[in-house]
Amino acid sequence: MNSRRGFLQMITGSVFSFSLISREALASVKETNYEGPVLRVAIMGLGSYASRVAEAMQSCKKAKLVGVISGTPSKIKDWQTKYFIPEKNCYHYGNFDEIKNNPDIDAVYVITPNALHHDQVIRVAAAGKHVICEKPMALNAKEGQEMIDACEKAKVRLLVGYRMHFEAKTLEVIRMRNEGEFGKIRFFQGLCGFRIGDPGQWRLNKKLSGGGSMMDIGIYAVNGARYMVGEEPVWVTAQETKTDSAKFKEGVDETIQFQMGFPGGAVASCLSTYAMNNLDRFFLDGDSGFAEMQPSTNYGPIKGRTHKGELSQPHITHQTVQMEEMASILFEGRQPILPVDGKEALKDLKIIDAVYLAAKTGTKVSLDLR
Ligand code: NDP
Repeated sequence: MNSRRGFLQMITGSVFSFSLISREALASVKETNYEGPVLRVAIMGLGSYASRVAEAMQSCKKAKLVGVISGTPSKIKDWQTKYFIPEKNCYHYGNFDEIKNNPDIDAVYVITPNALHHDQVIRVAAAGKHVICEKPMALNAKEGQEMIDACEKAKVRLLVGYRMHFEAKTLEVIRMRNEGEFGKIRFFQGLCGFRIGDPGQWRLNKKLSGGGSMMDIGIYAVNGARYMVGEEPVWVTAQETKTDSAKFKEGVDETIQFQMGFPGGAVASCLSTYAMNNLDRFFLDGDSGFAEMQPSTNYGPIKGRTHKGELSQPHITHQTVQMEEMASILFEGRQPILPVDGKEALKDLKIIDAVYLAAKTGTKVSLDLR
């Protein structure tokens, strides 16, 4: 942990020449006048989502990108130049365990293909650093539990990149539900999908993705059903359809419809697909009101309305808010309204395991997420 004052001293001192610092970066530092702790983050896996997170972090006052872990030397060089990352904070997949000897990094954000999360998170934990891991946290609940255990053993925190858990319109719907404004909740619908392109990408390779659309986009409906209904499901049923078995090979799901039942009697009807566009919609229905959001989980702005009218909370880049909030969770003991820890992610993995089992067997699968 360091302070914003320390960062200011560093960038205006001898470490970097003034000409290297962008006017925008200095302006944002000056504007904040923030003197508290700063979460110093190294990002692992410099792909498309990592690039988005890195850009968003430029607007953070409580979190700062200070390091990289990558298998691609040219990307490391580019990121060093773009984000003023010193050589001593650059690692590759073979040597990142050495991060344990680096006092200038507090946390590693793992943004690699799904199948790599398990081993990489466990190695980061063993190096004594907090871990932020992208969704899905792992390929299945067994792996997820092992990651939680490893982080507990190493006494580091494990957080998962559930950016929607900090999104203002989403949180307003949850506030309304908690205050009973929708009455008794009866139904949730979650539609999540897009037509996936390049058949050669890792998302369509079971070894790296762990599955298909469910792992990647269906997880938003799983997680959204839980936070919109406000209960944990007790059963799952599921049906899989496949129209292109050349593109979606064995174990890579193209489309799954699934249903969940909740203890209070509510039911959820969800669709996860890699074969249809324009599917990013949540609908929550209660005895005395409703909420609908479309788009509901993309990068925003999220749009939505309830029986009381349009949701008007302002849009702030999701990844900026997420990293600010995660810094507060790690350094100030903040309890988020919706949890973003490993145990939260484990519940989604248990449900996804059950969805796959239900689709395969055609049976109703019981769940116990307590
Ligand atoms: P990309 O393919 O764009 O990037 C993944 C990066 O991981 C690569 O660029 C590479 O970086 C590294 N990598 C290491 N080993 C491999 C390998 N064997 N094959 C491919 N890449 C490898 O993926 P995304 O950034 O889209 O997704 C990464 C993770 O982030 C996924 O778990 C995904 O689910 C999650 N995600 C989350 C989103 C959210 O909104 N929360 C949105 C999008 C993705 P390098 O060359 O530096 O080693």
